[in-house]
Amino acid sequence: MRTPILAGNWKMFKTVREAVDFVKQLPADDPATGVEKVICAPYTALPALSEQLRGTSYLLGAQNMHFAEEGAFTGEISPLMLKELGVHYVIIGHSERRQYFNETDESVNQKTKAALQHGLKPIVCVGESLEEREAGRTGEVVRRQTEAALAGISPEQAKQIVVAYEPVWAIGTGKSSTAEEANETISQIRGVMAAKVGEEAAQAIRIQYGGSVKPDNIDSFMRYPDIDGALVGGASLKADSYLQLVQGVQDARR
Ligand code: PGA
Repeated sequence: MRTPILAGNWKMFKTVREAVDFVKQLPADDPATGVEKVICAPYTALPALSEQLRGTSYLLGAQNMHFAEEGAFTGEISPLMLKELGVHYVIIGHSERRQYFNETDESVNQKTKAALQHGLKPIVCVGESLEEREAGRTGEVVRRQTEAALAGISPEQAKQIVVAYEPVWAIGTGKSSTAEEANETISQIRGVMAAKVGEEAAQAIRIQYGGSVKPDNIDSFMRYPDIDGALVGGASLKADSYLQLVQGVQDARR
């Protein structure tokens, strides 16, 4: 049984003060829920959140990193720096980074390998653009992205990876994929993984859906057993909405 994972992706939102205000609204005596709960915050908020979340069941994530341990890479953050802060997860290859910051299949692979090497769990994002979807190329695009991300990764390492299937046209647009379509693409992604790292590892890898997931639609996605949770942007920014999403995942897996 794969433990479902709900990860909030705050993107470039929240000052340190706003981030701390958010976590103060989370229930203090949070029971183990059977849902892995992750908050992927901006770099600047990570030290304060690491402090605040210590001893709770919420795990901290970053939204990107460089693959090198250190070096002359002005403006970049390394896996060692994230580890030092107690970060558990790191989003790799989000479509906004592929689109605006020259992230490529190759750099996604380098970063995925570096994260695994340093004991960080990568949340690797894959997904087609609207143009690709309309041209009937969804399957081909997610196959290429998934295969590239997994190049040179052993089955044992692969089990630590989380994949987020995020159709680019559904991100922040209020248009989500139908749960049935998302499930179908996610099953295809699992098939690609099985061919690459073997059936056992592929069955252990969690694959989330992302793209306009809200408290009122999360249930429709979670009804499919192949969808192991969600990566949520806009609806993760308010604590009450974030908690409803966690609850939604939990209820669906009961
Ligand atoms: P959204 O973003 O939930 O605001 O659509 C999802 C994401 O980009 O991870």
